Amino acid sequence: MKVSVAIPCYNEEEVLAFTVETISNYLELLKLKKLFENFEIVLVDDGSSDKTWQLIESFCNQSPLIKGIKLSKNMGHQNALLSGLFNANGDVVVSIDADLQDDITVIEKMILEYNQGSHIVYGVRAKRESDTFFKRVSAEGFYRLMSMMGVNIIFNHADYRLMSKQAIEHLKEFQEVNLFLRGIVPLIGYKSSKVYYERSERFAGESKYPLKKMLSFAWNGITSFSVVPLRIVSILGIFIFGFSFLMTLWVLSIKLFTNTAIPGWASTVLPIYFIGGIQLLSLGIIGEYVGKIYSETKQRPRYFIEKIYTQTKEKKS
Ligand code: UDP
Ligand code: MG
Repeated sequence: MKVSVAIPCYNEEEVLAFTVETISNYLELLKLKKLFENFEIVLVDDGSSDKTWQLIESFCNQSPLIKGIKLSKNMGHQNALLSGLFNANGDVVVSIDADLQDDITVIEKMILEYNQGSHIVYGVRAKRESDTFFKRVSAEGFYRLMSMMGVNIIFNHADYRLMSKQAIEHLKEFQEVNLFLRGIVPLIGYKSSKVYYERSERFAGESKYPLKKMLSFAWNGITSFSVVPLRIVSILGIFIFGFSFLMTLWVLSIKLFTNTAIPGWASTVLPIYFIGGIQLLSLGIIGEYVGKIYSETKQRPRYFIEKIYTQTKEKKS
């Protein structure tokens, strides 16, 4: 059996040397324990602007077990990861971030789970003590919101997981451009399991997921997997319709059965603002989905590989 580890790297020059060394030492150890016969490390350079690619090339020159993939520009974490998964040739592929925030020692458990018949093994964060308060609250809020929206994702599981070759073959059949792997992978089915670990701090460099990227990632996850926001719009419409019906009754009853003058201003102007706001919001949400359809129908490629580099050969594609 061969194990591949796929790592997306975006401006990770500060962490890469340590990461590659730690992971390859660990995999050597597992190999000695006869957990598998062979392994490779696939490093995907997601259009970094620092020395990440030069570093990757030098690692490849040092070891035949390392493969470098250079994307033609920054395609985003999910796409970089996907290119790593698709270009790894192990019987199983473990995906992990370059900053080693995810505990690599559970790879052993993942492989044992695979041997027990699981095609997908999710790494789940048991604790988030090392994350900043803000990151923890926003990330856990994200998982809750997703499940409220009816999206089937694993709570506190990011993209640290093991997938069998067969599961990855199925992943290739998902053609979506708005990639949200955490939502897609559970749709593949098969026997799956979870392993738990504690997430530690990034040991160097800074997060490549600033608030803006996190929000757009979350929004993408929701709108790619859930129609609940559209349903909320409809429900809101029904409520407002009911409310305006009551208003009509009220206005009519005052008009017909009393002779108090209606102080018209508030009851005219307020609904205009209120309903105007709701309409804009609803249009906006619908627009988001139309935008999704727009980008999906174009079926643009999700990434371009500039080159694949290994010790033995340099391929261009
Ligand atoms: N990453 C990437 N492309 C991007 C942003 C991030 O390949 O556009 C990679 C990054 O190098 C790292 C992983 O995605 O390996 C996760 O990023 P990070 O650790 O910064 O995210 P956080 O842990 O803060 O959520
Ligand atoms: Mg990180």
